[in-house]
This record gives sequence, structure tokens and C-alpha cells, in this order.
Amino acid sequence: MADAFLCIGECMVEMAPTDEGTYAMGFAGDTFNTAWYARKLLSKDRPVAYLSAVGTDAVSDKMLDFMQGAGVDVRFMSRIPERTVGLYMIHLDHGERSFSYWRSASAARCLTQDKSNLRQGLAQAGIAYFSGITLAILTQEDRCTLLAELEAARANGCIIAFDPNLRPRLWPETKTMCAAVMRGAEVADIVLPSFEDEAAWFGDADTTATARRYSEAGASVVMVKNGASEALSLSHGAIMRHPVRTVDRVVDTTAAGDSFNAAFLASYLDHGDIAAAAEAGVKQAAWVVGRRGALV
Ligand code: AMP
Repeated sequence: MADAFLCIGECMVEMAPTDEGTYAMGFAGDTFNTAWYARKLLSKDRPVAYLSAVGTDAVSDKMLDFMQGAGVDVRFMSRIPERTVGLYMIHLDHGERSFSYWRSASAARCLTQDKSNLRQGLAQAGIAYFSGITLAILTQEDRCTLLAELEAARANGCIIAFDPNLRPRLWPETKTMCAAVMRGAEVADIVLPSFEDEAAWFGDADTTATARRYSEAGASVVMVKNGASEALSLSHGAIMRHPVRTVDRVVDTTAAGDSFNAAFLASYLDHGDIAAAAEAGVKQAAWVVGRRGALV
């Protein structure tokens, strides 16, 4: 039976400042972070796989080693000799983080080029997870390929989950981003947006408006995260509100949403209960925001 938890997107090299004034190398990226947390949370008999592309150089080898070391299946990682992995650097200025990116020619941008790899990955998946960043790094043509393959997988019974993860800097125009994200939502069963981004780029008045917009696009479950404010779900017409946990000291909100999504989906796959899944998401994200780094 196809039961893998398959995440599709881009993992990058992360250069994070250390207390000694140097940089520590790690690996992270929104959909990969979700795979990493899902691997920690799901029972060992359910495979967690990552589908993307890397180069054939030493740093690409290191990334695959890291993934495998975390228990993530790398069978569907393509290798593209003429490319390498993307990189980002974190800058800390009085506790405020900013980022520089080198990803415009990353191998991950070619993740749909081996179509049979994409098909095989999806054929093994009980659930496939992707994001607005996955869509942003692809050309228009490759985006259509991915969405068509996801749609076909859904018709074959695979659950499709999508975090819109709106990042206007990755898009030529916000109009293109919004249109592509709504197309992404149309192929998804579960949509997991963050309200702050949705309000900024879609002009939603409140979390209910966000949930309704994605529900009308076709999602049977919409789980709207809202930072330190209560989250809201809309499932088969029913709205539920989910309080978040109070965190004594918020240290770093990196990967809060990614880890929430992993815990929500892992619980939902096991029990099919939205309230319990939201509680699992809230609990996991509260742990993550209290600690430094994406993968904690
Ligand atoms: P976001 O994507 O920023 O809306 O956050 C995702 C999830 O992380 C939220 O639904 C919360 O569960 C959790 N979270 C984010 N920020 C905080 C915070 N300041 N305090 C507690 N939980 C938070």
C-alpha cells in the first residue's frame, strides 16, 4: 500500500551565525523542515521521503547524508550534475534576523524534470505535501507539470496537503503568486495557511475569510495558523477555534509553521480528528518557538 509521507520542495544549505562570530553550516527549507518533524513524529513503519533535486558535488552529498541521517528517505532526490544546492545566510542584528539567499540557479528548481521520478514518488505516497515556495522556484511550465501530477495522484487516492507560504520576493509579481497559490489550493485536500501572510497578500479580514477562500477553492480541511493568536480550522463546513500555548520566552519563530504542519498532518493521518491534530500542531510549534533554529 502507498503510505509514504512525501514532501516536495527545496532544501538549502543554512549558514547560521555562532556566538564565536563564525557560521555553522546546516540544512533547512520549509518543506524539508516539515519532513524532518514528520519523521520524528510518525511511527517508524510509515516512510517519510523528500522529493527534490541536488547536484553531484560534495555539498550535495552532505545534504543527502544529513537527510538520511535524520531518517528521511532520499530515493526520490534527483541529481543534476551541472547544478548545486541553494544556500542562505542568517544575519542577526540585535536579535532581529534577516536572510541573504543564493538559490536562483539551484538544482531544486529542476525537481520536476525527471517526470518518472516525480510519478514514482507520488505513487508511493499516502500523503504528498508541498508549499507556495515549491511553486515559486519552478518555471510556469514546470509548475503546471507538478500540479497536474499532484492532481493525478489525488485522483488515485493520495491526500494532498499544501502550505501557501506566500513569499513575494520569490515571484515576479504578487498577482502571479496569488494566482499560482490558488491553483495549488485547487489540487489540495488540506490547506495550512498562516494568516499574517494571507491578510497581507489576499486582503483577508480575518482567519474565517482565509479559511472560506481556500475551502471554496476545494480543500476539505483548512487549518489557519495565526502566530500567537488562536488558530482556526474549517472542515466540511464546521469552524473550530484552537487556542495556542503561551510560551514564556519566544526565542525564534523559524519553522513554527513548518513544525505545526508536520504535527497536524501526522496526528490527522493517525486519527482523522481535526481538534486533536490542531492541538498536536500547537504543542509542537510552542516547543519550536521557545528554541533557536529551524530543526530542534
Ligand atoms: P505562524 O505561521 O506564524 O502563524 O505560526 C504557526 C504556529 O506557531 C501558530 O499557530 C502557533 O501555534 C505557533 N506560534 C507562533 N508564534 C507563537 C507565539 N508567539 N507563541 C506561541 N505560539 C506561537
